[in-house]
Amino acid sequence: MAADKHTEEKGQQDDVLASTQIVIHRALEKLGYPEEVYELLKEPIRVLTVRIPVRMDDGSVKIFTGYRAQHNDAVGPTKGGVRFHPDVTEREVKALSIWMSLKCGIVDLPYGGGKGGIVCDPRTMSFRELERLSRGYVRAISQIVGPTKDIPAPDVFTNSQIMAWMMDEYSRIREFDSPGFITGKPLVLGGSHGRETATAKGVTICIREAAKKRGLSLEGARVVVQGFGNAGSYLAKFLHDAGAKVVGISDVYGALYDPNGLDIDYLLERRDSFGTVTKLFKNTISNKELLELDCDILVPAAIENQITAENAPRIKASIVVEAANGPTTLEATEILTQRGILLVPDVLASAGGVTVSYFEWVQNNQGYYWTEEEVEQRLEKVMVKAFNNVYEMAQTRRVDMRLAAYMVGVRKMAEACRFRGWV
Ligand code: GLU
Repeated sequence: MAADKHTEEKGQQDDVLASTQIVIHRALEKLGYPEEVYELLKEPIRVLTVRIPVRMDDGSVKIFTGYRAQHNDAVGPTKGGVRFHPDVTEREVKALSIWMSLKCGIVDLPYGGGKGGIVCDPRTMSFRELERLSRGYVRAISQIVGPTKDIPAPDVFTNSQIMAWMMDEYSRIREFDSPGFITGKPLVLGGSHGRETATAKGVTICIREAAKKRGLSLEGARVVVQGFGNAGSYLAKFLHDAGAKVVGISDVYGALYDPNGLDIDYLLERRDSFGTVTKLFKNTISNKELLELDCDILVPAAIENQITAENAPRIKASIVVEAANGPTTLEATEILTQRGILLVPDVLASAGGVTVSYFEWVQNNQGYYWTEEEVEQRLEKVMVKAFNNVYEMAQTRRVDMRLAAYMVGVRKMAEACRFRGWV
C-alpha cells in the first residue's frame, strides 16, 4: 500500500498541479488543519475557459483558447499574471494560481492567488495581432475580474505594452479609468517604479540571505543562471553588479559558459525581447550541461521540471534558488535537501514581482506615487522578512524549505477561510 502510494506520487512529479497538491496536503497536515481545508484549497474556486476570435493581419480569423483561474479569495481579491505560451494548459494555470496564493501568503499581501493564460505563440504574431488578442481576452473575462475582484499582471511572454492594452480595454468596458485593474503597466499609465526589475531584485535578496546563512560571500561567488528572460537577465546583471562571477547563462537554444565570468552587459545589449542571445555564439553547451556546472549558486530562471531525480545527484552548487515557477521536482527537492544543498523555493524566491505589483495597486488606489528608492526599501523589507520566516519554519519544524514555504504561505489563507466560516 505504502509502495503504491509512493509510485503514485512519483508518477505525479512532473504534473505541476498534482505535485503542488501533494505539498499543500503535507503543509496543512503539519499545521494540524482538518481534511476539509485541503479539499477546499486543492483546486481553484473558479476557472473560466474562453475562446477568443482574433482577426489576423492576412484577413483570416483565428480562435485562441484562454483561461483565468482564481484559487481562493478568502484573504482578498485574487492576483496573478497572464502568460502567453503555446504550452499553456488548464492544469498548469490552476497550479500557477495556487502558487500565487502561496506567494501572497509568504510575503503577507492582502490577496489570494489567480492566474491566466492564453494558448498562443507571441513570437509568431504581429504587434496588432497581439493587441487584438489581449483586448479579446479582457472582453472574454471581464465579468470575473476587476480592481477589487481579480487583478492580472505580466507573466511569461507578456509585458507592460500588453498590460496597457488590457487596462485600456477594461476601462472602456467599465466606462471609467481603472488603473487598479492590472499591474505591470508602463509608468505613464500608473505603473510603479521598480516593477520591471522586481522579480529579479527579490531573487537577488533571497540569494544574498541564503549565502549569509551558508557563510558565503556574494563577492566572487560563481553563479549559473538558467534562462535569460525578464527574471534571468536582470538577475544576472544584479549579481554581476554585486561582485558575483556569472559563469553560465542560457536561453531555449543553448547555454554559454566561461569559468572566468561572462560579459553580462554585452549579453544584455544583444538579447532580444524574448530573452534569446545564445544563437549569436558558436561555442555553446546544452541546458542540461549548464545545470551541472561547477558553481556555488545555481538559479533556474526558465521553465518547469528542470532539476529532476535524474540530474539532482550531480548538481554541484551548494545553494539553489528557484527564480522560475516549478523548476525542481519533489523527488529532486528531497535529493538536494538530503545532500545538504540549501534550496530556496519558487514561491518564496520569485515573490518580489507580485510584491511590487501590490505596491503598484496601492499607489493606483491612493493616486499618489512613490519614488524608486521607496519601492526598493519596501521590497527589501518584505523579502528579508519572508525569507527569514520560511527559514525559521524549516529549522524549527525540521522540514525542507519548500514544505516550510508552503506552511507559511497556506496558513493565512486557511485561517481566513476558517474565520469566514467556510471550513
Ligand atoms: N507573474 C508574476 C508571478 O508569477 C507576477 C504576478 C503579479 O505581479 O501579480 O509572480
